[in-house]
Amino acid sequence: MSTEPAPKITVATAWLDGCSGCHMSFLDLDERLIELVKSVDIVYSPLVDTKELPEQVDLGILEGSVSNDDDLAKAKAFRQHCKFLISLGDCAVNGNVPAMRNPFKLADIFDRAYRETVDCQPQIPTVEVPALLKRVVPIHNVVPVDCFIPGCPPHADAIWYVLSELIAGRTPETTKVTKFGA
Ligand code: SF4
Repeated sequence: MSTEPAPKITVATAWLDGCSGCHMSFLDLDERLIELVKSVDIVYSPLVDTKELPEQVDLGILEGSVSNDDDLAKAKAFRQHCKFLISLGDCAVNGNVPAMRNPFKLADIFDRAYRETVDCQPQIPTVEVPALLKRVVPIHNVVPVDCFIPGCPPHADAIWYVLSELIAGRTPETTKVTKFGA
């Protein structure tokens, strides 16, 4: 009988246009994180040092909406490299706070953010800043998503439930443990 431990599930996370609150909720797993790392290896994330998305990842978790070129590229890269993709939090699931800019023209948003409300050297940045998309969209508008965890942020218990179910090879019923804005 083999005594080899089961291979760990590889996990990658990223935040797009979000406030990092959903990642903070992930960290709110607290002592359950110790349990989690017994079966999970976080291979790419703002929470770890590795900054290159591996070629193949079992589970991708994306926080935030798609608001600029960089978000779009990350969402596509996650879809390409992750077998299973989770949309974490209301911004990822429905646009939420970032999408509040959608009723306004981009030019008006730039004026408001970089000229009207700035006292010193008002100017619109053009160098090394990802270009904004005309509209903010949820992740599933640009790539297929396998699982949605709503909430602003989702409760750590909901994140724990979903991860535990996936690790156990089951399909999580997220509607039982999540609600928008909670
Ligand atoms: S869903 Fe809420 S907590 Fe999560 S990134 Fe958006 S605003 Fe922040």
